[in-house]
Amino acid sequence: MHSVSISASASASASAIASGGARSKAAAGRRPSEIRFCGLRGDALACGSLRASHAAAATSRAVLRAASANGAAGSGDRFDYDLVIIGAGVGGHGAALHAVEEGLKTAIIEGDVVGGTCVNRGCVPSKALLAVSGRMRELHDEHHMKSLGLQVSSTGYDRQAVADHANNLASKIRSNLTNSMKAMGVDILTGFGKIVGKQRVRYGKVGFPEKEITAKNIIIATGSVPFVPKGIEIDGKTVFTSDHALKLESVPDWIAIVGSGYIGLEFSDVYTALGSEVTFVEALDQLMPGFDPEIAKLAQRVLINTRKIDYHTGVFASKITPAKDGKPVLIELIDAKTKEHKETLEVNYILNIFLFLYAGVTIAVLLATSLLGYNTCTL
Ligand SMILES: Cc1cc2nc3c(=O)[nH]c(=O)nc-3n(C[C@H](O)[C@H](O)[C@H](O)COP(=O)(O)OP(=O)(O)OC[C@H]3O[C@@H](n4cnc5c(N)ncnc54)[C@H](O)[C@@H]3O)c2cc1C
Repeated sequence: MHSVSISASASASASAIASGGARSKAAAGRRPSEIRFCGLRGDALACGSLRASHAAAATSRAVLRAASANGAAGSGDRFDYDLVIIGAGVGGHGAALHAVEEGLKTAIIEGDVVGGTCVNRGCVPSKALLAVSGRMRELHDEHHMKSLGLQVSSTGYDRQAVADHANNLASKIRSNLTNSMKAMGVDILTGFGKIVGKQRVRYGKVGFPEKEITAKNIIIATGSVPFVPKGIEIDGKTVFTSDHALKLESVPDWIAIVGSGYIGLEFSDVYTALGSEVTFVEALDQLMPGFDPEIAKLAQRVLINTRKIDYHTGVFASKITPAKDGKPVLIELIDAKTKEHKETLEVNYILNIFLFLYAGVTIAVLLATSLLGYNTCTL
C-alpha cells in the first residue's frame, strides 16, 4: 500500500503552464509507488519553487488522498489508468503533469470548469482586478502624475470592460491549462466524479449515463467552495460571496466585507479604487489576524488607513438578511467573546450597499468527503 500527496499552488500552476508539454520523460517507467510528489510535509517541500507559503496553504485546501494499490478492483492487475485525479483545479493540474512526467497513464475528472477556484474564481480574476485598481490609483495620484510630467484631465472606468478583462484572462489561462494537459497526454474526463469502490471511480454529467473507470491510484483534489456561516443568507445581489464579487456585476457605494484576511483585503483594494467605501467585520480583535505582525502593520498603514475603510473588530456577523421589498440589508453583530448583541448595521437599500463574504476552506473538506461517497467505500 502506498500513498501520495501533492502540492497545489498558483505559482506551481503558472510554471507548469509556462513550461507547457516540454518536460523530460526520464522517469517514465518507474513504478507509481516510487514517485515523490511535492507535498505538505517539510521533506517533500524540498521542491524549491513550491516553498512559498501559498503553496502550503493551497495544498491544505486540496483534499488529497491516494488509494491503495493493493486489492485490485479491475480485472486482475489491470486498470484503465495508473492514476485518476478528481478535480482539475491547480492542485489536480499539477498532479496530472507530475504523473505523466513520471510515465503514469493519467486521467483527470472535472465536474465544472478546468482551473477550479484559482483560475476561474480566485487568484487569476482577483489579480486582474487588482491590476486595474492599481492603475486607477496611479491615475488619481495627481502629484505622482505631475512628477512624471503628465496631465490627466479626468479618469473613469467601464465596469463591464473591467469585468470582461478579468474574465478574459481567466479564460485564457483556463485554456492554457487544458492544452498543457492534453499535450502531455492526460485524459480530461468531464463530469462529477464519485469513488464507488476501491480503485473504482464513476463520473458523468447530470442527466447522462455515468461511466465507470478503474485506477491503481486516486487523488482527490476537489478544493474548496466559499464558506457561508450559519445565519447568513446569500442572495447573490445584495449579499454575496467572492465568487459573485469577482464578476463585478456592480460597484456599490458602500460594501461591508466579512473577514479581513488576504481575500477581504484584496477586495477592499479593488472596491475602494473603484469608488466604494468599505466596512470590515472581523471576529478577532485586530484586522488581518492571520498575517505576520510586521506585514499586518504595514498593510494597515498603506492599505487601510489611507483609504475609505472603517472596521468593527471582535464581532461576529451572526445574522445577515439581504435587502428585499424596500427593506435594507441587516447585519447583526454580536460580541465574539460574550456572544451578546452589540449592534445592528442597517444598510440603506437605496444607497446600494452590498455585502461580500469570505471564501473559506473547512466546509469544502466536509463537502468533498460526503460528495465523493466516502461512506460507501474504504480507501
Ligand atoms: C478570491 C480568491 C483569491 C485567491 N488568491 C490566491 C492567490 O493570490 N494565491 C494563491 O496561492 N491562492 C489564492 N487563492 C486560493 C486558491 O484559489 C486555492 O488555494 C486553489 O484554487 C486551490 O486549488 P485546488 O486545485 O486545490 O482546488 P480548486 O481550485 O477548488 O479546484 C477543485 C476542482 O475540483 C472540482 N471538483 C470538486 N468536486 C468534484 C467532483 N466530485 N468531481 C469532479 N470535479 C470536482 C471543482 O469543480 C474544481 O474545479 C485565492 C482564492 C480566492 C477565493
